[in-house]
Amino acid sequence: MRHRLLTSLGCVVLAAAGAAVPSCQQHQNGVTMALRAQARPKVLYLTHTAGFVHDVLPHSEQVLRTLGAAQGWDVVPSKDVSLLTAASLGEYAAVVFYTTGELPVSDQQKQDLLAYVTAGHGFVGIHSATDTFYKWPAYGEMIGGYFDGHPWHEQVGVRVDDPAHPSTTHLEPRFTITDEIYQHRNWSRGQSHVLLTLDTDKVDMTKKGIKRSDKDFGLSWTRTYGSGRVFYTALGHRKEVWDDPRYQTHLVEGIRWSMSARTKS
Ligand SMILES: [Zn+2]
Repeated sequence: MRHRLLTSLGCVVLAAAGAAVPSCQQHQNGVTMALRAQARPKVLYLTHTAGFVHDVLPHSEQVLRTLGAAQGWDVVPSKDVSLLTAASLGEYAAVVFYTTGELPVSDQQKQDLLAYVTAGHGFVGIHSATDTFYKWPAYGEMIGGYFDGHPWHEQVGVRVDDPAHPSTTHLEPRFTITDEIYQHRNWSRGQSHVLLTLDTDKVDMTKKGIKRSDKDFGLSWTRTYGSGRVFYTALGHRKEVWDDPRYQTHLVEGIRWSMSARTKS
């Protein structure tokens, strides 16, 4: 074991120096993987808005770049949907959507995005990512639901459903936060791994626009999609939320989890 490790490390050094080392061929895959693992992961943060425009987007881009840099990631904010192609997406370990409406992309681009996630990359949806691509049901199936109004914009109670997930382990089992709070349709607890739920004991349930008869309002969840991992958080409308260390850790760890599918095998 020790010999194999030393041999592989030797190959990395020699390969990096451009040397042709026949004995390294058997380790070629390992060398390639080792070098790739050492590369700085890139995260595409797509903020194209084809519907409602969130004022918080410029601030969110700044926060996510800073948070990413602290993790050794290059977060690339962009509104350019032309980046959603197989060739461009291949550069990124994960794609983060804070989008609205029907993004102007081709059918081929839609296929490329799904193929990218299926192949084992990360997809992260923030807040209005579920207010996106209503006319593309396969997207809704991937992310796990569609926005169906926001009955609340006030301080609400939130319950942690899975305290063991890296994106929630730092949170109190029940906590309060002030934000615009979504409800979703085409979403069910049985089809997603729920991380956070609205604590209906701590919210005004007489609000207009409450539609879910089961009163089950998931606020963050994960899904697997092919070999890929999907993380979604409904929180993130307000600037104050983006400045909240609890939210920052929630998001960073959600992104890390999403893009670790390929290294977990
Ligand atoms: Zn919003």
